[in-house]
Amino acid sequence: MVAVSKYYPAEAIERAYKAGQRVFAESRPQDFAAKVEILPKDIEWHFIGHLQTNKLKLVLPYASLVQSVDTRHLLDEIEKWGKANDHITDILLEIHIGAEQTKQGFAEEEALEILFNADKFPHVRFRGLMAMATNTDDESVIDADFARIDTFMAYVKDLFPELEAFDQLSIGMSGDYKIALRHGATMVRIGTAIFAE
Ligand SMILES: *Cc1c(COP(=O)(O)O)cnc(C)c1O
Repeated sequence: MVAVSKYYPAEAIERAYKAGQRVFAESRPQDFAAKVEILPKDIEWHFIGHLQTNKLKLVLPYASLVQSVDTRHLLDEIEKWGKANDHITDILLEIHIGAEQTKQGFAEEEALEILFNADKFPHVRFRGLMAMATNTDDESVIDADFARIDTFMAYVKDLFPELEAFDQLSIGMSGDYKIALRHGATMVRIGTAIFAE
C-alpha cells in the first residue's frame, strides 16, 4: 500500500509512519523534496504526479519509484539525468486506460514501442505499469478498465521476459482499490481513505 500524502502536512505523515506505514507518495516536486528532507530516512518515497523536466533534480535523487512517467520526452530526460549523475531510476510507465480524453499516459502501442527499445535507457529500470480507471461510480466501467490493464501487463511480461524487474502493476485508489485487487494490482495508491478528505 502506497500512502498518498500529497495534500497532507508532515504531521499527518508522521502519524501514519508511527502506525507502521513506510511507503508514501507525493505529486508535486517542491512538496516532495521538502517532506523528504524533514521526515524519517527509512521512508520509501514514490512520485506520482506530473514531473516537469526542469524539476528532475528535486525528485530523482530521493524517489525509489517514479510511477508517473507519461511522455517519451520525460523518459529521455530521466535517462539523460541518470547518465550525467550516475543514477538508475526505477519507473512505471503510466498507461491511459480511462475514458477521459484529458487523462495523461501512454497508449498501449506507445508503451510497447518504448519497451522494444528498453536497451536505449540504461539508466532507467522499467518496473511495470501504472494506470487510473475512469472516474465514475459505474463499477462495471472500472472493472473493464482494470481488466484491460491486467491483460496488457500479462502480455508485456510475456513479450519481454528479459525485463526481469518488470513486475509491478500500480492500480487502485481509495474509491476503487477493491476492484483493482481483483485484477492483479501489486500496489494500491491510497490517499483520502487513510488521511480523510
Ligand atoms: C491523488 C492520487 C491518488 C490517491 O487518490 P485517493 O482517491 O485520495 O485515494 C492515487 N493516485 C494518483 C496518481 C493520485 O494523483
